[in-house]
Amino acid sequence: MFNLASDSKRHDRNIFELYPDNKYSNKSLEKEEKLWLLVGMGYTAEEALTAMDKCGPDTQIAELTDFIYAAELEKELDVCIRELPDEEDEKSYSHPRNLEFLSNNKRKLEKQGSRGLWRSSKKQECGTERRIYIPNPMIGFCDPDESWPIVERKLPEAAKRLPYFYYENVALTPQGVWSKISRFLYDIEPEFVDSVYFCACARKRGYIHNLPIHNRFPLTPRPPRTIQEAIPWTKKWWPSWDGRTTLNCIHTKSGSAKLAERIRQALEKYDGEPEPPRHVQTYVLAECRKWNLVWVGRNKVAPIEPNEMEMLMGFPRNHTRGGGVCNGDRYTALGNSFQVDTVAYHLSVLKEQFPNGINVLSLFSGIGGAEVALHRLGIPLKNVVSVEISEVNRNIVRGWWKETNQCGNLIEIADVQEVTWDKLEQYVSLFGGFDLLIGGSPCNNLSGRNRVSRVGLEGEHSSLFYEYFRILDLVKCIMG
Ligand code: SAH
Repeated sequence: MFNLASDSKRHDRNIFELYPDNKYSNKSLEKEEKLWLLVGMGYTAEEALTAMDKCGPDTQIAELTDFIYAAELEKELDVCIRELPDEEDEKSYSHPRNLEFLSNNKRKLEKQGSRGLWRSSKKQECGTERRIYIPNPMIGFCDPDESWPIVERKLPEAAKRLPYFYYENVALTPQGVWSKISRFLYDIEPEFVDSVYFCACARKRGYIHNLPIHNRFPLTPRPPRTIQEAIPWTKKWWPSWDGRTTLNCIHTKSGSAKLAERIRQALEKYDGEPEPPRHVQTYVLAECRKWNLVWVGRNKVAPIEPNEMEMLMGFPRNHTRGGGVCNGDRYTALGNSFQVDTVAYHLSVLKEQFPNGINVLSLFSGIGGAEVALHRLGIPLKNVVSVEISEVNRNIVRGWWKETNQCGNLIEIADVQEVTWDKLEQYVSLFGGFDLLIGGSPCNNLSGRNRVSRVGLEGEHSSLFYEYFRILDLVKCIMG
């Protein structure tokens, strides 16, 4: 056998350098190669071997990755999620930001009779068990082709009061994360939606909101639902053995030029043949799936371009382009952003309620997915307080605001921690209150292949969720 740890870098370099073409004459070598491929894709050797044992020797890589994914889901999600005991909750409240918030606002909150962070834990029953299910298909409460919900939901009393709020994060999180988020957000059940039902790329997200769910309508024109319709010029080069019709979730990083070159070299060897051998197809497809590569020439794949990502995510063309924004920043911002058509479908119910415009508190605004969705729905933006730490992103939102000739006011705040009681009180009295509080806090510690940083909601970035809750709670207090 081989040493996985020391050889995995070698594998990353080029699997075709490691194995000669006749490797399939030997079954155990075939098994080893599959193992290498899976490890190279970021799975552990244990996961890979279990999948191969369970699925059988002839199973293709795509099926093996599906198996591992399903097993991961089962482990992480389809289990009883136990409520955390009070001590655990106290730990999360002891996050430095929350402590600061508590000492700054405790008296005010008590005076106002707020349910405050520390008190919400006392409300929870300990030892009760609850499950959060990720539905399959992940279509949410309504089918986008219908205006009528496919489920009935009854909002908890505490969630019925205005303002409307809308919180987003990745659907597939470590165990217990969504049940905790839900508990903080008035026990509302998350709506899990994969954007693949709205556009040509997957994006599995959970949304907790207190918006009505009847009479939703999708943005028009409806975006293309297949890669071939969305990026038609790739059709010419798309090989028949690549059966992808949709892209995977768009990431914050794009595939490298070196990888595209390795794929070209691997395919070129079989130029005279009707199609490359199975193992080459398997390798190429695994990389294409992983990095969302599309066919741009003979044997030539490339990552989708930022402009194509903008289109897939529902943003106007060149939304993130120019003004000194480099491609790396564009990929990052688009990889983190809302899929506009999906979010707009949920927000569409506001159009009838706010014909004269809406006051929005947009937290973690990024490149303005929420603002763009409301604008595309034709809901006038009266006042938008946008909180976003990245200067690049703030510039993008400001640029869009000007380009679209918004008549309202855009107020920018850099850091959620600067959003204090006093500031909020000032805005509430100035605008007469917020109608919608919207945002999705960073998911860095909730998703991704890096298990070291995937520590859950208490992670450095993901704990910013508590800021969302803190601010929502303050706004609710101030607005009475
Ligand atoms: N929904 C947004 C993207 C959210 S991603 C969109 O449609 O584009 C999370 C965002 O939180 C990132 O843009 C990140 O820059 C921002 N962020 C991280 N820490 C922050 C903080 N302390 N205050 C404000 N924004 C922050």
